[in-house]
Amino acid sequence: MSIALGSRFAGELSELTVPWKAEEAPQPRLLVLNEPLATELGLDPDWLRGPDGLGLLTGTRVPAEASPVAQAYAGHQFGGFQPRLGDGRALLLGEIEGPDGHLHDLHLKGSGRTPFARGGDGLAAVGPMLREYVISEAMHALGIPTTRALAVVATGKTVYRESPLPGAVLARVASSHLRVGTFQFAPLLMRASGNTDLLRRLADHAIARHHPAAADAEQPYLALLEAVSAAQARLVAQWMSVGFIHGVMNTDNMTISGETIDYGPCAFMEAFDPATVFSSIDSWGRYAYGNQPSIALWNLARFAEALLPLLADDAEAGIEVAEASLGEFQGLYEAAWTDAMARKLGVAGASADTVEALVGDLLTQLQQSGLDWTLFFRRLAGAARGDAEPVRGEFIDLATFDGWLQRWRDLGPDADAMDRVNPVYIPRNHLVEEALTAATGGDLGPVEKLLDAIRSPFDVRAGLDRYAEPGPREFSASFQTFCGT
Ligand code: AMP
Ligand code: MG
Repeated sequence: MSIALGSRFAGELSELTVPWKAEEAPQPRLLVLNEPLATELGLDPDWLRGPDGLGLLTGTRVPAEASPVAQAYAGHQFGGFQPRLGDGRALLLGEIEGPDGHLHDLHLKGSGRTPFARGGDGLAAVGPMLREYVISEAMHALGIPTTRALAVVATGKTVYRESPLPGAVLARVASSHLRVGTFQFAPLLMRASGNTDLLRRLADHAIARHHPAAADAEQPYLALLEAVSAAQARLVAQWMSVGFIHGVMNTDNMTISGETIDYGPCAFMEAFDPATVFSSIDSWGRYAYGNQPSIALWNLARFAEALLPLLADDAEAGIEVAEASLGEFQGLYEAAWTDAMARKLGVAGASADTVEALVGDLLTQLQQSGLDWTLFFRRLAGAARGDAEPVRGEFIDLATFDGWLQRWRDLGPDADAMDRVNPVYIPRNHLVEEALTAATGGDLGPVEKLLDAIRSPFDVRAGLDRYAEPGPREFSASFQTFCGT
């Protein structure tokens, strides 16, 4: 088969790209292939497993008309502005038009140094690439917008981190790789080059690909800001509802499409606590679970700043328009969060005020008793069916919880509806670590079994009991995640 790779981004926005090639992979070996995703994209899984397929998945054999590029972007990392980041170890191979008519970026991570690599080696290790594969599949199965992993191919190279590790390339699919950081880079380049229409072309490209309705608005660029804010408000509310902690919400890791991107130090919270942080470098808790909505807004403010020249003729008027738009974010987020929580509690018909009060009181108790976020909601469905003991058993202040339970029961919760939105199986940290350690040693069995569990997260299945349980307390208390590995 021949695969058609478009170069729309590289063609329309060449200033934001550097044509580049992947490094050779001396001994490519397919570790995992996402067959459902391949089929969705119109790619033949058997072809992908063959030599040409592996060549594509490592970037070492690409169609003649393809023009792989490293993308340029800037970004605020932990609040500090870096004017020149870009794909240091990644390449955009091009765009695939799926049978659905939509464009999907085919992108590689770990394919060698690029001009944006700074001190990095341009490579990636098997463990972290499989981590992205597993967690992004879990997010997809949970119904949360995300970039997806098409395959992980071991390269046969050794990657040196704290110890020597097997190297790998991840093939990633996204509706695009436009980020807030892409918009932050464009004004810098315009100032440096006098190329004044770049920002407008970038915004038009983003509108056409992700938010086409904005094109018909009276003020299309303001409509773009509004659409991205709304998409991020919904996305972060969904993260919060499953206990997902992104871990590195820098502006270069926030998409314009509203998909979750960059599964570096992310992890799922177990015991409910808004201050939960797993990332080893996030010592101030900037990206803690409970801070994610306000960080999303902070990032959107950086997006708005980059868009200012398009929002009005003079800066002051632009700022006024941007502030009014950003002022909507909190309300959008809260509405999305309340809606998600109403569904988790099986009371989708209740009024927002009732749900907000119920959720507020519940969170206080969950935190006080350190209950597992995921397990709690499944057990609560049991209480809706008449068996309250498993969920009651863990509360420190039982009288208060019983009072809450009564208020909730009075709303007539729907247990089956709860089980359709509250997962049993999430990629719990101890399970992910166990699976990645095995895979690094050559045994992919645990990764496959974990994938099997998290791909149908809502359906209890025999033989998967340990996948539904929190990790040992000692493990969770000291668990840390790492960036850029
Ligand atoms: P991240 O926090 O993973 O989004 O990465 C931030 C920046 O560091 C991006 O510009 C990456 O391309 C770059 N980067 C991360 N790891 C490496 C590496 N091993 N080699 C080169 N660049 C890297
Ligand atoms: Mg990144």
